[in-house]
Amino acid sequence: MKVEHVEDKKITGLMFAYSYLCMRKLWFYSQGIQMEQNSEDVKIGKLLDENSYKKEDKHILINDCVNIDYLKDGIVYEIKKSKAEKEMSVAQIKYYLYHLWKSGVASPIGILKIPSIKYQEEISLLQEDIEEIENQLIKIREIILKKCPPSLKEIKACKKCAYYEFCYI
Ligand code: SF4
Repeated sequence: MKVEHVEDKKITGLMFAYSYLCMRKLWFYSQGIQMEQNSEDVKIGKLLDENSYKKEDKHILINDCVNIDYLKDGIVYEIKKSKAEKEMSVAQIKYYLYHLWKSGVASPIGILKIPSIKYQEEISLLQEDIEEIENQLIKIREIILKKCPPSLKEIKACKKCAYYEFCYI
């Protein structure tokens, strides 16, 4: 387990995605408690990342805050290993598009790719998405500034969560 102090409360793409899955997980992560390195899912994700789209520009940092998987012809690509937690992945991509929009890109486009099932979905940023993202950012800031994590609510993702032992043992 790696524990570090998070002085900078920038909201990364991963934090934004966690907020759609579990606010308690978001809180743990925001406090610098990082256990994902031990998770099998993360190992698979890293392997996938290292072996996918080698010729493209990968890991583009925007606004010193969000890290895009890769960018090609102005399109943001996010690669996932499975369709599980798709809502979270779409929210993450929209958050990247939001940062591009804030940086002056008028109509940013993203693509969610799941190579294992040859799945691809185009994602755009609508006005209602911008409003939802800004509301979600307010909720995220409230959570990460709390002294204690939100109370435990059991969800399907708990069984594979890297923070399982914090919640159940
Ligand atoms: S184990 Fe479940 S409740 Fe706990 S942080 Fe993970 S997803 Fe959230």
